[in-house]
Amino acid sequence: MAYDTENIFAKILRGEIPCDKIYEDEHALAFEDINPQAPIHVLVIPRGAYVSMDDFTTSASDAEIAGFMRAVGNTARQLELASPGYRILANIGEDGMQEVPHLHIHLFGGKKLGPMLKTTG
Ligand code: AMP
Repeated sequence: MAYDTENIFAKILRGEIPCDKIYEDEHALAFEDINPQAPIHVLVIPRGAYVSMDDFTTSASDAEIAGFMRAVGNTARQLELASPGYRILANIGEDGMQEVPHLHIHLFGGKKLGPMLKTTG
């Protein structure tokens, strides 16, 4: 899938629409999810134009991949989640039910999160 430069996270990266910023560095931006599914629900996105984890791990440089993963950890530490713990998740493609076509890692925390996946039958 080609990258859509008009996707909502691309607009956030360009500063065209606002976000509640949590963390940023040269590789990544982290901001609050607009529809939180846990007391803490933050999205971490790479600055580069990558549709998904598949696209990212195919085309990003080693420095971008390392920088992005470091940023996920930095974001969790900034939120003081390292000790109580947290969960990260990335939806990829149709079966993964990815809605926004710019790679994002969901970071959940702030309570015991329960089973990893709900049984959907
Ligand atoms: P996914 O289903 O993994 O693609 O998740 C997309 C996420 O983006 C959802 O959790 C939405 O609530 C979130 N989202 C959509 N638009 C915005 C926005 N403008 N600011 C923050 N989060 C958003």
